[in-house]
Amino acid sequence: MNKNRASRNVWLRPARRLQQYFEATNTNEPLTELPVDLWKRLEQIPHLQETAIAYDWLLAANRLKREFRSQLNQFHDAMTLLCDEFDRLQPRQITPTLRDLLADLEALADDFSDVKFDSSTHVLSVTTEPITLQEVELGPFEIQLHCRELQTGQLSPYRVVALEPNPSSTNDEVTHPHVQSELLCEGDGRQAIATALAQGRIHDFFVIVANLLRTYNEGSPYVGLDDWFGTLCDDCGDLRSSDAIVSCGQCVGAICEDCIDRCAGCDENTCRGCLEACPGCDDYCCSGCLSRCVDCDTACCPSCLTDSERCPDCHEAQEESNEYESFPTTEPPNPQTGITVQSDCVGQTAVPA
Ligand SMILES: [Zn+2]
Ligand SMILES: [Zn+2]
Ligand SMILES: [Zn+2]
Ligand SMILES: [Zn+2]
Ligand SMILES: [Zn+2]
Repeated sequence: MNKNRASRNVWLRPARRLQQYFEATNTNEPLTELPVDLWKRLEQIPHLQETAIAYDWLLAANRLKREFRSQLNQFHDAMTLLCDEFDRLQPRQITPTLRDLLADLEALADDFSDVKFDSSTHVLSVTTEPITLQEVELGPFEIQLHCRELQTGQLSPYRVVALEPNPSSTNDEVTHPHVQSELLCEGDGRQAIATALAQGRIHDFFVIVANLLRTYNEGSPYVGLDDWFGTLCDDCGDLRSSDAIVSCGQCVGAICEDCIDRCAGCDENTCRGCLEACPGCDDYCCSGCLSRCVDCDTACCPSCLTDSERCPDCHEAQEESNEYESFPTTEPPNPQTGITVQSDCVGQTAVPA
């Protein structure tokens, strides 16, 4: 009993403070001013128009009729705006009593190792146990409810701070698969968190957030746990996340997107080490796309290797020697060698046909 009383006293002041915040949030919610002036004008116009008609001021009567329509529009817009504003602020259904808040604070002290209320910053915080997900040790987290932000109606008036951060190797703002820059990706918990805060159920709020931190949702992490430590690029040695790593089509090495190249022949992702320049066109190709010249054994790309499977140099040399051999037997009136070779080819194909 004594112990209870003592612990009650510890939490009384924070509970009072919190109650002020929740009450302030309630009273702050403006059932804002109605468009009274617009309404008054709308009330006036029919009387004025009646008078105008009575005096036969037809132009004035017509003008009033048009004004009435435009005022109706303005009134309609003003009412729509009020509705939107009202829905946006989502009035709290329940203001927690001092007793509720005290009970919540005491329950928090039972459930969490370190519950603190900082009266200068107006931050109520709890500390979780060290959290380990799929063997990745993320350390304990401090969940901080910023009470001042409760009043301003901020969507996430809380932060999640890693006390012994072990951030993802690829992004040190990500201290938990679902926490980036101290903001929690609430996922399925969004509605439950919003409702708990709206109703001042602070124990529920902290428990929901802590449970989200204890859970890994593979579907929507900022960085997946299997990717927590990143992957080294075999080329430049940088640590990258798996979606920035490509596998080389030749050596199957893990290559980052900055280092990966493409084969000019088959367009496959290939690391630089697996590409070789074709001496004919200087394009870089993979070994699968390069073929050896039958004469000099140089690796050539498919477009530079001739039909006779020679590199451009060897092809030229071969043609020169052909020309030299054919020179004494024929007397070409035209010195173009290409024509001589072509006519030979045509002659050869014509024989079997
Ligand atoms: Zn790289
Ligand atoms: Zn490679
Ligand atoms: Zn290729
Ligand atoms: Zn080539
Ligand atoms: Zn060659």
